[in-house]
Amino acid sequence: MAGTRKKKETPEIDIYKAWCKACGICVAFCPTGALAKDETGHPYVKDIEKCINCGWCEIRCPDFAITVETKTKGKRIEVKSGEEEPKPKEEEVSPERIVAPRQ
Ligand code: SF4
Ligand code: SF4
Repeated sequence: MAGTRKKKETPEIDIYKAWCKACGICVAFCPTGALAKDETGHPYVKDIEKCINCGWCEIRCPDFAITVETKTKGKRIEVKSGEEEPKPKEEEVSPERIVAPRQ
């Protein structure tokens, strides 16, 4: 019987070379070998399929030079310049946060 399987989402890894000092920490801490060092010692994504989206490379980088796009960070709301930020719907506002106006 053929079942339906959800396709595994591939994480996105961004490396900001300008901020990276090629210390190799991210490569050393990557538990799966998804990252490797190039000839200059800078990290690169060797095999994105091996990435398990654990975020260790991002957490351990002392220079904030590597980021992993996780799918659990929540929805992004784009606000174009000049537009007001979207307000939460009424049912999303917790009653404890409603403050009565001063008399
Ligand atoms: S998120 Fe985890 S598995 Fe993926 S590259 Fe970073 S350390 Fe390696
Ligand atoms: S831990 Fe950060 S600074 Fe060090 S090699 Fe990795 S990305 Fe570059």
